[in-house]
Amino acid sequence: MRFSRVLRAGAVATAMGLALAACGSGNQDSGGGGGDSGGGDSLTIGIKFDQPGLGQKTPDGYEGFDVDVATYIAKELGVDADNIEFVEAKSADRETLIKNGDVDFIVATYSITDKRKAEVDFAGPYFIAHQDLLVRADDSSITGPETLNGKKLCSVTGSTSAQKVKDEFADKVDLQEYGGYSECLTGLESGAVDAITTDDTILAGLAAANEGKFKLVGKGFSDENYGVGLKKGDTDMRDKINAAIKKMEDDGAWKSSLEKHLGPADYNIPEPPEITEK
Ligand code: GLU
Repeated sequence: MRFSRVLRAGAVATAMGLALAACGSGNQDSGGGGGDSGGGDSLTIGIKFDQPGLGQKTPDGYEGFDVDVATYIAKELGVDADNIEFVEAKSADRETLIKNGDVDFIVATYSITDKRKAEVDFAGPYFIAHQDLLVRADDSSITGPETLNGKKLCSVTGSTSAQKVKDEFADKVDLQEYGGYSECLTGLESGAVDAITTDDTILAGLAAANEGKFKLVGKGFSDENYGVGLKKGDTDMRDKINAAIKKMEDDGAWKSSLEKHLGPADYNIPEPPEITEK
C-alpha cells in the first residue's frame, strides 16, 4: 500500500508537470491521487466508467452527470478538476474502496440503503432514479417485472437491482450477475440474456448510446436515492459535500448537467430531492 502511494505521488508530479507544460485542462487520466480526505489539493473519487450519461471513461477523460457532481463537489472542497483522480468503482467494490481509503468519496449511481449505511456514510441524496428494465427493441414479451418468469435477466453483482426482482417479482427468473452494465448490454445484444434490470438513468443512457437496438420498459418500480458514499463517521466531509450538492442545485449547474447528459436519452428530469443524510 505504502509502495503504491509512493508510485501514485510520482504519477501526480508527472501529470502535473504535463498539465503545466500543455497548459492542459480537463481530467488527467493518470493524475491526481493520494487524496488527503478532502479539502487538500487533490482528491481520488470513485465513479462508474461504463455508464453513458452518468459516469463514462472516454478517450478524452470522463463525462456524465456523476462526473459533474463529483467535479463540483471537488471545486467546493478547493480542488481543481485537474487534481482529481477518477478511479473505477464497480457496484460490488464500492464499500471496500471507501473502507480501505482507496477513494475519498464515491459518486457512482450509489443508492443509499440501510445495509450499506452499516459500512459507509452517505451525503445527499442528490438524485432519485427508479429501477426499470431494458429489452431488445423487437421484444414485446417483457412488459414489466412480473413478466420475467423463465427469462434470463442480467444485473450487476453488488447492485440493489438484481435482488429486488428476484425477491419481489419473479421467483422463476434466471438471474445472471455480471461485473458491470456494459457486459450486461453485450449479453442483451447477443441474446445471452433477455433483459437488463437496473436504474432507469443507466438504462436510458445505454439505450441512447445504442440507438434503435434497445428499449426501456418504462415501469419504474423502486426509488433509488443516489448518495455520495464516504467513510463512516466523517461528518465534516459529509456536511461539506451536502453543502456543495445544495449549491449545485441552487445555482442551476445540477439541472444543466442533467439536461446535457440525460436529455439526449429523453429522460424526464425530476426536481432535486431533499437532502436527508445529515
Ligand atoms: N443504484 C443501484 C445501486 O446502487 C444500481 C446501480 C448500480 O449498480 O450502480 O446498486
